[in-house]
Amino acid sequence: MSRVALVTGGSRGIGAAISMALKEAGYTVAANYAGNDEAAAKFTAETGIKTYKWSVADYDACAAGIAQVEADLGPVDVLVNNAGITRDAPFHKMTREQWDQVIGTNLNGIFNMTHPLWNGMRDRKFGRIINISSINGQKGQFAQANYSAAKAGDIGFTKALAQEGARAGITVNAICPGYIATEMVMAVPEKVRESIIATIPVGRLGDVTDIARCVVFLAADSAGFITGATITANGGQYMT
Ligand code: NDP
Repeated sequence: MSRVALVTGGSRGIGAAISMALKEAGYTVAANYAGNDEAAAKFTAETGIKTYKWSVADYDACAAGIAQVEADLGPVDVLVNNAGITRDAPFHKMTREQWDQVIGTNLNGIFNMTHPLWNGMRDRKFGRIINISSINGQKGQFAQANYSAAKAGDIGFTKALAQEGARAGITVNAICPGYIATEMVMAVPEKVRESIIATIPVGRLGDVTDIARCVVFLAADSAGFITGATITANGGQYMT
């Protein structure tokens, strides 16, 4: 029986690459998404990976969605908390709604997804939790007080939970991507993109596969000695 992996925001962008890489590595994969039915249907048609729609910001929806995935595919062994949003604004213009939306998805979302799975992983004495944080959670970013706070929170959550899961065979790790060539980043004007690339020592944006590769590495049964770690994958742009 292959291990089961659940990837939030797993039908687009970095998440889609993670879902595909895990499938290629032999996992049975479920990809969650929030609302883009068209992208999810296309993804399933192209990859054969099942998609499941619910918001990670809603605890009850997460519990119900996870129950459905487990009924379809079996107990989840690997959880990749990848779903994330931005609602950027300089702080003097940031609304409470922008704050709440980003904290709700990017920070509360990882509680909402991990909590319903935790006891099952403890009982089975195996689990892999991989949280996709961000370079901007490590260094902070102008106009992203909400996003930087949530992503820094993801790292704190990772380190705390790694201690709780260690004796139960559960590892908890974070990955901090730098600028990755997703639709969002490719949509910024070329001049701005070039100025970003000029700050990246390797001289290019990251590819989604650069992050997917890290996930496959951390998900492996053989990666059991790595827990509480933060892997930076940013082309050398920020060295911790
Ligand atoms: P995208 O915007 O391309 O995709 C986001 C995915 O998350 C989509 O599948 C979306 O679903 C899903 N999603 C959003 N909100 C929710 C929600 N409430 N519940 C469930 N799913 C949700 O993002 P990226 O691929 O660029 O980013 C993926 C992760 O990597 C994020 O956590 C991001 O913060 C992080 N990151 C990205 C960087 C980059 O350069 N791109 C850099 C550093 C970190 P749907 O398709 O339905 O909209």
